[in-house]
Amino acid sequence: MIDHHCHGLVTRDLDRTGFEELLTEADTVSPLGTSLFDSSIGLAVRRWCAPVLDLPSYAPAEDYLARRAELGAAEVNRRLLRASGIDMFLVDDGFRAAELTTVDELGTLANARAERIIRLEAVAEQVLARTDATSFPDAFRAELAAQAPGAVGCKSIAAYRVGLELSGARPTDNEVRLAVPGQRRVAHPVLHRFLIWTGIDLGLPVQFHVGYGDRDIDLHRADPLLLTDLLRATEPAGVPILLLHNYPFQRNAAYLAQVFSHVFVDVGLATHNVGARAGAVLAELLELAPFGKVLFSSDAFGLAECYHLGSLLFRRALAEFLHAADVPATDAQRIGELLAGGNAERVYRLHQSTWAEAPNQSCHPS
Ligand SMILES: [Zn+2]
Repeated sequence: MIDHHCHGLVTRDLDRTGFEELLTEADTVSPLGTSLFDSSIGLAVRRWCAPVLDLPSYAPAEDYLARRAELGAAEVNRRLLRASGIDMFLVDDGFRAAELTTVDELGTLANARAERIIRLEAVAEQVLARTDATSFPDAFRAELAAQAPGAVGCKSIAAYRVGLELSGARPTDNEVRLAVPGQRRVAHPVLHRFLIWTGIDLGLPVQFHVGYGDRDIDLHRADPLLLTDLLRATEPAGVPILLLHNYPFQRNAAYLAQVFSHVFVDVGLATHNVGARAGAVLAELLELAPFGKVLFSSDAFGLAECYHLGSLLFRRALAEFLHAADVPATDAQRIGELLAGGNAERVYRLHQSTWAEAPNQSCHPS
């Protein structure tokens, strides 16, 4: 399996609060709301992760945390990562990097290949810290071009900063310069569009955060349909656009994947958060999205449990969907291979050892 969007792991031991905080998109656990173990993801941890730590399925939360502490973070991470069956990780290393394993460290722990996804805004903020408005456009282009050979794609977090209602027009360098003042933290539609177009010009597949996530997002501005103008404008370039997460807008994302040749989708993050309902969420995506347009991602962040749950619940959800559709075994096998990794391999050109061999990326077969 290829996990086309995930983050690093926390390698320190976690107390109960530290563990529960990584089970939620909230900043912290609500004392009034009791425990995250009493939620769909909490049940999934007890159901599916407890046996990996030699506990019975549905072992109580206290027993689970005690066993976790007894084994230690390193052993817990090793067991759960390897249980996930993920062969390759595409890692966004631009968020809370100091607390998490690096791309290479994650690969080593999982005994798997790991590749980097560049977070566009993180690179822009590094460049903004050392340059002025006049030289920013050239400096950013040069920096992204320098980093691109060590990565397989890039990612925009415009959803978090300004929302997804972005014009498709490519900004001029002068428009970019006018937008720079006051932008130590990038949050300007012109700048986000500039970063995205720069990634496309380099042939880097562009991931977008879409739908739910940490609470600093305005979810009503993270509906993928708001990207329609930008998708129309970017389609002729032929560079893949990957809409991440999408929940609870997975049906809208599925429509975009059907009608735009360069759009690909997943329901990562939702898969492990909704637990036993993963089948329902994936099925809504697969109602319209062609099977060649759907990828697997865990969007695991911090907790090794999330890689294992993301992978296992995705596989179960897909099996449920194919079974309900009464698909013959040979087709089920072929479709399963596409979603689990074949699509990611094709879209990111992962069979090539380095990006530098394919500078003129296009998703249109020529
Ligand atoms: Zn993520």
